Amino acid sequence: MPDAAYGVRMRVLVSGGAGFIGSHTVIQLIAAGHDVLIVDNFANAKPTVIGRLESIIGGHLQVHAFDLRDADQTERLFAHERIDAVIHFAGHKAVGQSIKQPLAYYENNLGSTFVLVAAMARHGVSKLVFSSSATVYGANATVPMKEDFPTSATNPYGWTKVMIEQILCDVAVAQPSWRIALMRYFNPVGAHASGTIGEDPSGVPNNLLPYICQVAVGRLEKLRIFGDDYDTPDGTPLRDYIHVEDLAAGHVAALARLTSTDRAVSTWNLGTGTGTSVFNMLHAFERAVGRELPYEVVGRRTGDIAASYADPGRANAELGWTATRTIDDMCVDAWRWQSQNPNGYPDA
Ligand code: UDP
Repeated sequence: MPDAAYGVRMRVLVSGGAGFIGSHTVIQLIAAGHDVLIVDNFANAKPTVIGRLESIIGGHLQVHAFDLRDADQTERLFAHERIDAVIHFAGHKAVGQSIKQPLAYYENNLGSTFVLVAAMARHGVSKLVFSSSATVYGANATVPMKEDFPTSATNPYGWTKVMIEQILCDVAVAQPSWRIALMRYFNPVGAHASGTIGEDPSGVPNNLLPYICQVAVGRLEKLRIFGDDYDTPDGTPLRDYIHVEDLAAGHVAALARLTSTDRAVSTWNLGTGTGTSVFNMLHAFERAVGRELPYEVVGRRTGDIAASYADPGRANAELGWTATRTIDDMCVDAWRWQSQNPNGYPDA
């Protein structure tokens, strides 16, 4: 039965639904009574995630394996399926790679959005939840970060988020009946409580938690801490780590809100409002694993800022949503996933 708290039951197209945040959101959409269709090109996700998702939901998932930049396939999907709303997660997300391959990043992230939004417009689908990032607050924002701060970026990945937000705002000016949510994530971590789905980065992880997970499981030798000379309590940078299950719940709440709001564009931070240092994260993970983990302090990483955490007040008030899971919950769940799947998802 649909949970009344989530309001209208919808048929939701989830782009990037096989990815880390997408897959967790699919489960919660279904739990809330929505129907889900996934579109994913599996460029950065293993097809085996789908079977895991089907085990969790106890049913079949409709999956369309193609690239949204393929305008013909995207048009056919919208022509043949009833779709009430779209949650758009699909996109490249590695900051370092985006600096090395800027054209590929702009081409992929903007190109897929153009095709998707044009197809939505042709078929009268006007509810869109977009996967943005706190990276749009740029390098000089104060903390806690609020939605009305100016946006900027420090790398091509970040600029794709700034640009897509702008493009969607322009679409809403031209077509005021649209209802668009720009979801600005802080640092999503953790995994589903079953331990069967989680984050599975390709290659050496760039982000802190996946890196610690691979040290803990023996795939990497030691954590390298990028600088302990920041102006923070223990010298390491502060980030707003948020459990992916809380993040997924924020999307379900945002989708419901789009059916009742008069605003064409709504911007919501998804964070806890608390900054946690690299050392505190490492120690929380050590508690989850039950032993100390090797690390070394090295030089700062280019582009890192000292502190990034949300003011989640607007999402709390307007979505009736609050992140509830603790740092220890995040580490326990991430470790359950990683220890049960030391090499991530199987190939087949
Ligand atoms: N970090 C680190 N070692 C790593 C990866 C990350 O010390 O191998 C630090 C990084 O400098 C930052 C924090 O962990 O202070 C979070 O980094 P992440 O890349 O996960 O998120 P972001 O900096 O993009 O918010």
